[in-house]
Amino acid sequence: MTDKIKELILRLDKDRSLSLPEYEELIRDRDSEAAELLAELALKRKKEIFGDAIYTRGLIEISSICKNDCIYCGIRCSNDKAERYRLSEEEILDCSDEGYELGFRTFVLQGGEDPYYTDEILCSIVQNIKAKHPDCAVTLSVGERTRDSYQALYDAGADRYLLRHETADPVHYAKLHPASMSYDNRMRCLRDLKEIGYQVGCGFMVGSPYQTQKELARDLKFIEEFGPAMCGIGPFIPHRNTPFRDEQSGTMELTLYLLSVLRLINPKLLLPATTALGTVDPRGREKGVLAGANVVMPNLSPRSVRKKYELYDNKICTGEESAQCRGCLELRMESVGAYLAVDRGDAPGYTI
Ligand code: SF4
Repeated sequence: MTDKIKELILRLDKDRSLSLPEYEELIRDRDSEAAELLAELALKRKKEIFGDAIYTRGLIEISSICKNDCIYCGIRCSNDKAERYRLSEEEILDCSDEGYELGFRTFVLQGGEDPYYTDEILCSIVQNIKAKHPDCAVTLSVGERTRDSYQALYDAGADRYLLRHETADPVHYAKLHPASMSYDNRMRCLRDLKEIGYQVGCGFMVGSPYQTQKELARDLKFIEEFGPAMCGIGPFIPHRNTPFRDEQSGTMELTLYLLSVLRLINPKLLLPATTALGTVDPRGREKGVLAGANVVMPNLSPRSVRKKYELYDNKICTGEESAQCRGCLELRMESVGAYLAVDRGDAPGYTI
């Protein structure tokens, strides 16, 4: 590790901020020694706030139908080989009941941008989950909607919203999405969500096509300035039925490095050890926790549909029952000195 990189890491830990060229340098000139120092500081900061607790979110994949055509995504509308399904309200409520029994206190309803889920239908689902499980948080992850729609869902009881920004560089954004989607609208959504009062999660893929250190530096600066409650990052993994089928996957090494950097940018950040990280390496999620992650999102979707929600190739945890997923993660977290908390797991500073 050069003296300059060491100085940048120590300054980031102190000031929670670097300039764009400094973030770029921190990524470009990294080595294993720099990664070790970052992880050591990241773990220390995480433990000061969260101890050894790992927050869990029960992920319910409500629909594999999507009107959008994001170029990297396995369920993009132009993939005519994708198997489509949509869960009914009853099925979603059953998943949340099962999840509650298993100890989940947050449910994440995630799906493609499926026009079936009007405000009326989604609000009813949110209200019913909250009525049955008032001590639980509901997170939505159903893409870009109008401000009025976000407001209606918030008023119905939704607490959090996940919407990955994907990249904080407009030119890069345009290379990953069709012309019908815009960077400006994505940013508008994120601002609206935050202003309405949601705990907002954003995030990006590590190693996505056309991404360089420059784009990643912009992502880090964006997280620093926007101040989300959560930031989900995982390695890009190509899907065989997309135009990016021949692209390389992102690496675990860089993902872990960036997890540590994000922890130093904001020690209170909710940082998931993602399923994509567990897909590129069998111990990816454990390594993510050791690099500073503090959230896992086991799958609560009915087993019959799991394989159909295939955003990228070889996604793990598609064959297990929900209880198996939670049990498996419990053991994995214990192996790195952590434990799964039975808790809503709000971002520090947010009140119920
Ligand atoms: S990334 Fe999301 S919005 Fe884009 S095609 Fe996939 S499911 Fe649809």
